[in-house]
Amino acid sequence: RTMSLPTTMKAVVVEQTGGPEVLQFQTAYPVPTPQEGQLLVRNNISGVNFIDTYFRTGLYASAKPEVLGREGAGTVAAVGPNASGFQVGDRVAWLATSGYAEYTAVPAAKTVKIPDGVSDEEVMASFLSGLTVLSFVKETYPVQKGEWVLVHAAAGGAGFLMTQILKTIGAKVIGTAGGPEKCALVKGLGADVVIDYRSEEGKDWVKKVKEATGGRGVDVVYDSVGQDTWEGSLEAVKRKGTIIWFGNASGPVPPLPLPYDHSPCMELYQMDSHADELFVRKLSPKCVKVARPTLFGYIETREEFEYYTNELFSLLKSGQLKTKIHKVYPLEQIAQVHIDLEGRKTMGKPLLKP
Ligand code: NDP
Repeated sequence: RTMSLPTTMKAVVVEQTGGPEVLQFQTAYPVPTPQEGQLLVRNNISGVNFIDTYFRTGLYASAKPEVLGREGAGTVAAVGPNASGFQVGDRVAWLATSGYAEYTAVPAAKTVKIPDGVSDEEVMASFLSGLTVLSFVKETYPVQKGEWVLVHAAAGGAGFLMTQILKTIGAKVIGTAGGPEKCALVKGLGADVVIDYRSEEGKDWVKKVKEATGGRGVDVVYDSVGQDTWEGSLEAVKRKGTIIWFGNASGPVPPLPLPYDHSPCMELYQMDSHADELFVRKLSPKCVKVARPTLFGYIETREEFEYYTNELFSLLKSGQLKTKIHKVYPLEQIAQVHIDLEGRKTMGKPLLKP
């Protein structure tokens, strides 16, 4: 079934990888036709995530030309063959690709109806990032009440939500953020310790984490900054602690070697970088656990997807989880959104109005 649909639309297309200038705003891009198991959604609002920048630069591979954007909220405009459970007019949120457009054809399996009492904007400020936080805090490392947790980029789209969820669990949170305004925001969420890791005083954030935890280090680190923080995170985690590397905002974490420090095979192993050396010397003696998860691995089945979306919606409905929209940008300003995200200018979540 379809409502009357245009044949062309506004969309942002990337033909080759590069800087924000490769994001082309087009006004006559073809409206897709929903295929087997798909819905056509008219996006009311779309989310912009840091991951979009990885696909734009080529850090993560994807076929080009590509319409970027991994999530949207809006109305079902057409139902493809065998896309059961949805009707034209349903208000939905989806996780797929091609959200930087007025219309997106998305798998029904990765689409959910938005309950009454929750706005499209609230959902987009917490959908991909909130599901990430909920699954990582429950499954990658089940955080317990009273544990010390270090969260980097705590004022960001994911960090803002993670800080709140951790406080709901009763964890003790140390948040890092760049600049006084971001730090005030994180403090306002109830973080126990906030460190401005860009300031002169906060540069030695590892020392501050150690001080806050009585010299012991944190139980778990959630590190999405990567290159600039991985080394400090390894230092700041306690013996038998866990590090969760889940993003590359400053660049990727170097490849991880696994030989044991005192084993005979160490002599056979050529340590060719400072990074290798550090990994080997810190990881083994401290018996640190390392994880490198992705949200999509936790929501593969419909049951898993609904479990986390229901949890998110009930947190939003009850007011236990607050969202923060950095700004709603018109679709034609997409390059500016990427510039602001990569320039560390955003607090909370940037959204896009198609
Ligand atoms: P954010 O809103 O958190 O933006 C990134 C933040 O990282 C910046 O605001 C900045 O905060 C901080 N940062 C530190 N160093 C740099 C740098 N050199 N360049 C740019 N930013 C830097 O983005 P998202 O909420 O969209 O995503 C957060 C992270 O989580 C990303 O790394 C993303 O890839 C990851 N992620 C991973 C998922 C997964 O499944 N593995 C799913 C969702 C997100 P400050 O100024 O405070 O330093």
